[in-house]
Amino acid sequence: MKTKQSLETICIQGGWQPKKGEPRVLPIYQSTTFKYDTSEQMGKLFDLEESGYFYTRLQNPTNDAVAAKIAALEGGVGAMLTASGQAANFYAIFNICSAGDHFVSTTAIYGGTFNLFAVTMKKLGIAVTFVDQDASEEEIKTAFRPNTKAFFAETIANPGLAVLDIEKVAKIAHSQGVPLIVDNTFATPINCRPFEWGADIVTHSTTKYMDGHASTVGGALVDSGNFDWDAYADKFSGLTAPDDSYHGLIYTQSFGKMAYITKATVQLMRDLGSIQAPNNAFLINLGLESLHLRMPRHCENAQKVAEYLSKDERVAWVHYCGLKGDTYYELGQKYLPNGSCGVLTFGLKGGRENSIRFMDNLQLAAIVTHVADARTSVLHPASHTHRQLSDEQLIAAGVAPDLIRFSVGIENANDIIDDIAQALEKAY
Ligand SMILES: *Cc1c(COP(=O)(O)O)cnc(C)c1O
Repeated sequence: MKTKQSLETICIQGGWQPKKGEPRVLPIYQSTTFKYDTSEQMGKLFDLEESGYFYTRLQNPTNDAVAAKIAALEGGVGAMLTASGQAANFYAIFNICSAGDHFVSTTAIYGGTFNLFAVTMKKLGIAVTFVDQDASEEEIKTAFRPNTKAFFAETIANPGLAVLDIEKVAKIAHSQGVPLIVDNTFATPINCRPFEWGADIVTHSTTKYMDGHASTVGGALVDSGNFDWDAYADKFSGLTAPDDSYHGLIYTQSFGKMAYITKATVQLMRDLGSIQAPNNAFLINLGLESLHLRMPRHCENAQKVAEYLSKDERVAWVHYCGLKGDTYYELGQKYLPNGSCGVLTFGLKGGRENSIRFMDNLQLAAIVTHVADARTSVLHPASHTHRQLSDEQLIAAGVAPDLIRFSVGIENANDIIDDIAQALEKAY
């Protein structure tokens, strides 16, 4: 495949490259195993002396084709699919952190990732320090320690919608000798390619826009190939020193720019095993084939909804970086010039009761624990994902009690606005 293809063409034709007589459409390799003729052939695969498929927990041709498409979309050297976005973020960190290590993360991240980092990683002996991504470089740098191994952030934070100053945080990470890992779920490579701004590793919950139809939970880990692990060989000994589980193989020596993503596949996936099912990878690939068409429509519709809400006097506030005057408008213009995503948040005057009445009266928009679906979806974190928290705790967690998370779909924008209008009437 040509290296300089446009994103639109990669969405449709990237990844699966059929040869003469092979299926035009990506086949589902619904097989756990792959056949070899001699014992020696199989042995070489286990020693990583030859590349080839032998067991789907490590690699499967359907998954690899979809991973290759995602890698091409992000401009990376390689990618790996995981069973969920949670697994992708866990692997991204665990591939370079072990007990006794530390990493830095921005505070404005997805709740599931926050729990993973603050509670579960801690049990594994890996410590995290959370920083405000809008703080000064000097302030953020104070979070780094000699044993810090990574800096993690989201391009567009879920659900806070903060837009990351990727160049700024990449500069900070690199000044501290660690890679920048960016969760690019909400922007997708159609609207932002973090590697172009200095990120080293990108993760995705493909469950969101990449699938786009709310059918399949999945994740992806993408390697830019740009981070120089050997320059900090002591710090990243998992990549630069012999791996006992492969007879002393050294990833940076054997795989060069592919060291990080190869280790994630042949070591972490082998041992931890949260592989994407090939059937699910097929569905994600169908989603990817229309990603370049859906993202602009999500953004166009969300912009119309945001503008409509911002003019209604019953609406207390609206957060969407496409709105002039939004805290993140300027960063949005820089990093997301073609649009951010379909998700916006807003609050209603009168607070929680009105928000609940409003949501209960929506007809086209459905109350679901999901975002980034073709169908318009809505969630009230204070009543759902964060319902155990008091109002004071909600505010401390950055989730206003009146916050409504509205994920604008790709239906007709006027129909979505009509639905909001009639539900607002009934809420007061
Ligand atoms: C949903 C989400 C995740 C977790 O992904 P799952 O596929 O649900 O495991 C991680 N990061 C972000 C930004 C998300 O929106």
